[in-house]
Amino acid sequence: MREVYLDYNGSAPLDQRVAEVMTRVSTSHVGNASSVHRFGRRQAASVDEARGHVSEFLGATPGGVVFTSGATEANNLALIGAVEGASDGRSRILVSAVEHASVLRTAQWLHDQGRAKLETVPVTNGGVVDLAALDELVDDDVLLVSVMAANGETGVLNPVDEVATIAKSFGTLMHCDATQLVGRLEFDLVESGADLVSMSGHKIGGPTGVGALIGTRDGLGSLRPVVHGGGHEHGLRSGSLNVSGIVGLGLAVQLVDSERNEETRRVSVLRDRLVEEISTRLPGVHQNGDVEQRLPNTASLRFEKADAEAVVNNMDPVAVSTGSACSSGSIEPSTVLLAMGLDREAAFETVRFSLGRFTTGDDIDIAVEQAVTAVEYVRAMTGECD
Ligand code: PMP
Repeated sequence: MREVYLDYNGSAPLDQRVAEVMTRVSTSHVGNASSVHRFGRRQAASVDEARGHVSEFLGATPGGVVFTSGATEANNLALIGAVEGASDGRSRILVSAVEHASVLRTAQWLHDQGRAKLETVPVTNGGVVDLAALDELVDDDVLLVSVMAANGETGVLNPVDEVATIAKSFGTLMHCDATQLVGRLEFDLVESGADLVSMSGHKIGGPTGVGALIGTRDGLGSLRPVVHGGGHEHGLRSGSLNVSGIVGLGLAVQLVDSERNEETRRVSVLRDRLVEEISTRLPGVHQNGDVEQRLPNTASLRFEKADAEAVVNNMDPVAVSTGSACSSGSIEPSTVLLAMGLDREAAFETVRFSLGRFTTGDDIDIAVEQAVTAVEYVRAMTGECD
């Protein structure tokens, strides 16, 4: 049977057009983008062009883009940088309970170090940030609120603009991890009201190991660097620039811009067919998260009485995931699903299907077949062991 890849939220395949441009840049261009000679200037010009594409993509200014090694680093820079830069005695940070580990653990680390006081904002059973709870928690001693645009495990969307309005009314910085959203739905920095936004190349058809923190002048201006050195990226992120990666990111955002609407329509039809066919053929299938406010490519399915790890293994060569890729291998249930009120058993019965640019109808046919067979097999084996 041929391989089928349905783990785009873990990492989307590198688009061939991006790979070609990156190969050209890395084989025909020479030099450090900071060097003043013509080779360096050529590299710097390529970076500037990509910076323009990324800033345009998210409605920022070119000066509002800080290239990083990915969204993990962008999230670290936003949180640690804001705490380091705090000048008015604000010390509380609020993060939603379903944030990616690179936000949650960074915030926890800041708390453990005594550098900030972390408080968690709960989510509804549908996985959406609880605005009333946020409203209660936020005050003028809160330095930063971090709420993601879309959750990678469930695809559930947050009302980022409403979060930003609440944060702004207390003069609090608003950080939004938009890593999972920007490849699939439109996002505009100014309209969102966020001060700082994180994104990553490998979730949108670009390369792994490159991403960006995008911000307003005030947002970025309130940060201190985490990585120190030569003062690259407006002094906020030192290190010689990854020119081919940045050029790849620049093309990846252009491709998203021109193809996203069509792709969203096509992929959401495939996703809905996948869910419907699996649910028709199997009893005890539940969708996690608010299905009305969700990324078009993601389905988080709970198969009653079937251990998800076993289902995923038996679905091979169809690639799907239990929880986020970053917590795979861990025996702890997904913190995202627990925060939404699922019990441990239900969390351990959840499989994530995430589709994307290269997913075809045939892929869905194979995935449905494999999912049904795998779940029936795991249930039968579990029954025998009972
Ligand atoms: N934030 C979110 C919401 C993510 O889904 C991921 C990737 N799993 C990251 C951050 C980390 O991105 P990167 O791999 O670029 O460090």
